[in-house]
Amino acid sequence: MEANGPQTLQEAILYFAIPENCLNYIAVRRWADGVVCPTCGSTKVSFLKNQLRWQCSAHHAKRQFSVKVGTIFEDSPLGLDKWLPCVWLITNAKNGISSYEVGRALGVTQKTAWFMLHRVRLAHQGKDGGKLSGEVEVDETFIGGKARNMHGEVKARKIQGRRGPEGKAIVAAVLERGGKVRAKVIDRRKKKDLQALVREHVEPGSALYSDALKSYEGLDGEFIHQVIDHAVAYVDGNVHTNGMENFWSLLKRGINGTYVSVEPYHLFRYLDEQAFRFNNRVDMNDADRFDIVMRQIVGKRLTYSELIGSGRVASAS
Ligand SMILES: [Zn+2]
Repeated sequence: MEANGPQTLQEAILYFAIPENCLNYIAVRRWADGVVCPTCGSTKVSFLKNQLRWQCSAHHAKRQFSVKVGTIFEDSPLGLDKWLPCVWLITNAKNGISSYEVGRALGVTQKTAWFMLHRVRLAHQGKDGGKLSGEVEVDETFIGGKARNMHGEVKARKIQGRRGPEGKAIVAAVLERGGKVRAKVIDRRKKKDLQALVREHVEPGSALYSDALKSYEGLDGEFIHQVIDHAVAYVDGNVHTNGMENFWSLLKRGINGTYVSVEPYHLFRYLDEQAFRFNNRVDMNDADRFDIVMRQIVGKRLTYSELIGSGRVASAS
């Protein structure tokens, strides 16, 4: 095994079947300067070898803690031997992977796999990493619109949320050419919403490319804004939104092909997942992407009731 851990899915499954390997892989990433008690922050902790846990020297509740405490894995009865291959699978599946597939692959129920995947998507939410600059494309698209196939009551619930024409949700994004994307579910394609997204994520003075939607009018003062009117042409020299089109096609392949029915309520989680893979696509292999996600598991919690909200049921995707 290479020093930085398993390099393939097969190696990961074998490696993480051993509890000590799971513990070590996570511990060196979350506690690079030594183990810290998640409850009180003390570094006076001792390792209980037989239990694979630590114990804080201070006397307080939860003084014994496992490597899962304070991460997306906290309170899960499932072992890291299932969790870590799950992280590997979703992080490296170009078009996403359904809870049915993960359930079968790991020997858990579809419902359990659905919950696991959403917790991993939370770890896909990274730090912003600063504003985009250089040549930036902005665009928006509609997602969904399969409401007609759903049962009446479910249908009524699903189409209440954010939507554009025919019950579709709207996603807007900005993309730095050759760089990163920032995508967001928005309520309306109004000037206010779209321009706020641009100002939040794009460095003033950058070259900005959009289609001829009126909502983008008025950005010229802050950006070098050039418009491609899709009624006339899709490309005019370097004036185009082909980078965004590429991201939309990846996103839609996942959402329409793999996940099939995504509630608007959960759409941002699928965006986080796809944006993570897109933003970590250059000069990276599966092990590198897995490593990055495993550095983003701390300080994030998602309980089942938070995930499904009141009166909602787990969806099949
Ligand atoms: Zn403590």
